[in-house]
Amino acid sequence: KAKDSGRNTYSSYSQELTEKAQQYLSMEARLRKALSNDELRVHYQPLIDLQTGECKGVEALMRWQDPDAGLIPPMEFIPHAEQSGLIGALGEWVLSQSIKDFQGWLDLGIDPGILAVNLSPRQFAEPQLVSQIAGVLKSTQFPAERLELEITETALISRGDQAESDLRRLKSLGLALAIDDFGTGYSSLAYLKQLPIDKLKVDRSFIKDLPSDVTGGEIVAAIIAMGKAMDLEVLAEGIETRAQQEFLTNQGCPTAQGYWFSRPLPADQLLLWLKNNQQTTLPQPL
Ligand code: C2E
Ligand code: MG
Ligand code: MG
Ligand code: MG
Repeated sequence: KAKDSGRNTYSSYSQELTEKAQQYLSMEARLRKALSNDELRVHYQPLIDLQTGECKGVEALMRWQDPDAGLIPPMEFIPHAEQSGLIGALGEWVLSQSIKDFQGWLDLGIDPGILAVNLSPRQFAEPQLVSQIAGVLKSTQFPAERLELEITETALISRGDQAESDLRRLKSLGLALAIDDFGTGYSSLAYLKQLPIDKLKVDRSFIKDLPSDVTGGEIVAAIIAMGKAMDLEVLAEGIETRAQQEFLTNQGCPTAQGYWFSRPLPADQLLLWLKNNQQTTLPQPL
């Protein structure tokens, strides 16, 4: 029996490979169509000042509204976009769209602070990245001081000795830089110290089991202390409970984001959230 199925196994294996390749091709074709048919969306999650409760910025997070499959999260299509080289076009789209939304809020007299946009490893390594971003900033007249780019710690490390000069060229545009998912990539203090970065975003895995997770708490406290020593802002990702918020506030963590404050929201819903939050954080008139 085992011998019989041996041949079947081989043919179904190669069949599976063909299916995988086809899926990949059709995924690339579907993504191209998504871009040209306006199926991509940006949701926004507020970045909160833990001392005052104010919104200090918003992070732009891409989604794909597929007519058949519904709302597809970024982890399910960004890897395909990376593989196929479409990530450059997707990245340019997210940057332009989020700047448009942001300028719409400013025009209404609502100031969300800064706009944070994610860069994938391949985008970061792309030689045209700096001129692409410069082009969008120029055509939208968006002030670079309002823009922050998020690069994961692993993407930085994989660029090796190139990372520092890549970051310096981006910084020369006048924008801010954050290390995303910080704590997962084993970068050394000596390495970090030489990089022109402004912010560390502590990975959610260290926040998830707070406050009962003693080790996680100690790691977060160490990153907060390190941020202070290196004059970097620290933001804790993925706050889901009041207890986590209190723990981080007591530890002196300056900023945070997470479902506890708000899930990522479409632009119109974020506007409503910003209006409400503005009211609740302003001193109440007597
Ligand atoms: P990220 O940059 O680390 O973004 C944070 C992720 O954590 C988001 O997932 C957000 O929805 C989620 N999150 C926020 N608060 C909470 C919380 O309290 N609990 C939990 N469980 N999750 C929370 P999302 O939107 O699915 O994005 C996943 C990743 O996809 C992002 O991780 C980022 O690496 C990537 N990504 C998203 N948008 C873009 C984009 O426009 N360009 C690129 N290159 N990558 C993107
Ligand atoms: Mg991010
Ligand atoms: Mg992150
Ligand atoms: Mg993360």
